[in-house]
This record gives sequence, structure tokens and C-alpha cells, in this order.
Amino acid sequence: MYLVGAGPGDPELLTLRAARLLIEADVLVYDNLVSQEVLACVPDEVERIYVGKKASNHALPQHGINALLVEQAQLGKRVVRLKGGDPFIFGRGGEEVEELVKAGVPFEVIPGITAASGIGAYAGIPLTHRDFAQSCVFVTGHLKDGSVDLDWDMLARPRQTLVFYMGITQLATICDRLVEHGLPGTTPAAVVRRGTTRAQRVVTSDLAGLAEAVKAAGITPPALTIVGEVVSLQSRLAWFHPEEGDA
Ligand code: SAH
Repeated sequence: MYLVGAGPGDPELLTLRAARLLIEADVLVYDNLVSQEVLACVPDEVERIYVGKKASNHALPQHGINALLVEQAQLGKRVVRLKGGDPFIFGRGGEEVEELVKAGVPFEVIPGITAASGIGAYAGIPLTHRDFAQSCVFVTGHLKDGSVDLDWDMLARPRQTLVFYMGITQLATICDRLVEHGLPGTTPAAVVRRGTTRAQRVVTSDLAGLAEAVKAAGITPPALTIVGEVVSLQSRLAWFHPEEGDA
């Protein structure tokens, strides 16, 4: 069993090892975060099993996915479990591997470029920068039951970059909490949808206006939210403009 990171979308961002495993697989198990462009790299002969997940509409619950992986591997097939970005960053890859360990299925984990780093690069937002941010925090924006169980005081500290995964549906709450806990409403912020792909869209605003701007732009998941002074560089450093056809 190979737990493989697919990267954020652009197939050129697959690792060499991921690209090779996709070609050599017997079975591919993937979900909705894996881009069409990456799936296009998989030969037709490879059997595909979609276990797609949307925030509240699981095509197959996690325990079902775990059982499927064990079952397929025990059939002696070369199974590639492909996940968007990096499998060990908000990807439940850890849970899947725990099940493989329990079942005695041998496995390898192949890292991928996580959304934060792919999008930082393609949208022109360095996640750290000596003038603006000495640290960078990856945060889940998927708040349990809409409740606020994050360490907001830590997140609202100056001179750090915040990257929220899965935060779009709760964006207004996230921005409000950050401001309440002391982050200035003028802090630059960005939301990037389907970053690194030809469908990439970038919305920038200040923290106070971000939720409104994102709503007005009609942005839906999957999208990543980046908050911090580094976002002020975006307008100068952006180089990937797929909508203009020059990328
Ligand atoms: N393991 C993945 C993250 C899974 S959580 C990784 O390392 O990137 C799913 C969230 O990742 C999405 O809700 C979104 O916030 C973010 N994401 C993943 N790919 C993305 C992309 N191409 N563009 C924007 N956000 C993306």
C-alpha cells in the first residue's frame, strides 16, 4: 500500500515517486481533492475507486475507506491511496496508516506538496519573510459543530502567517475571532480557490472585509485562507495568471 500525496493540483507538482507509482498501480483509491489534471496522469488500465468526501456528505465514511484499503491490499494488489496535497497534513493519512498497521499491511508514505506551500508559491505569497513573518501556522478552519475550539490568542499574535485549511464555510467566524483577539482588521488576507490549477482564483482583502469579499466573489471549497502581512506582497509577486492564458 502506498499512501501518496498528489500535491495541490498542478500535475507537474507531483513528486517523481508519486508519478511513477500512479503508473505502476493496480488500484487507485482517491477522493475529490485530487485534481482532474492529476487523474489524467493515471493510465486507463488502473482500476479507480472514488471515495470522495465533501465537508458533510461523505461518499464513504472514514472507517469504510480504512476497511477498503486493507481489503484491497490483502488481495495482493498494488494499491495507491492518493490524497490531495500531503497525506499527513489535514489528510487523515495518519488514521489510514494506523489501520494498516493494525491489519499488518505493509505500507509506504510518499509526501506531497501541501496546499499552503503550493498556493503560496503560485499566488505570490511567501509564507515567511524576514520583514513580515517569522513563523507560519497551519490551522484547520473546520470548527467542530461551528464551535470555537482554537487557541485564538496564539493565532492573533503579530508577525506570523496563518494558513487555514477547510475554513471557507466558517470564514466570517474565523475573521471575527481573530479581530476580537487582537489581530488588526487591516491585516492583509487572501483566499485562494483551486490553487495551482488553471481554475485558480485569488481574492485579497483586509481581514475585516475578507468574508464579504469572498462571498461577493462566489468562492466555494476547496479554498485556502492566508492571513498576515506577507499577503501584502501578493500583488507584486504573483506570476501565475491562468485566466490570462500566459501561465
Ligand atoms: N492534505 C491536503 C489538505 C487536505 S484538507 C494538503 O496537504 O493540502 C482540504 C483543504 O485543503 C481544503 O479545504 C482547502 O482548504 C485546502 N486545499 C487543498 N488543495 C487546495 C487547492 N488546490 N486550492 C485551495 N485549497 C486547497
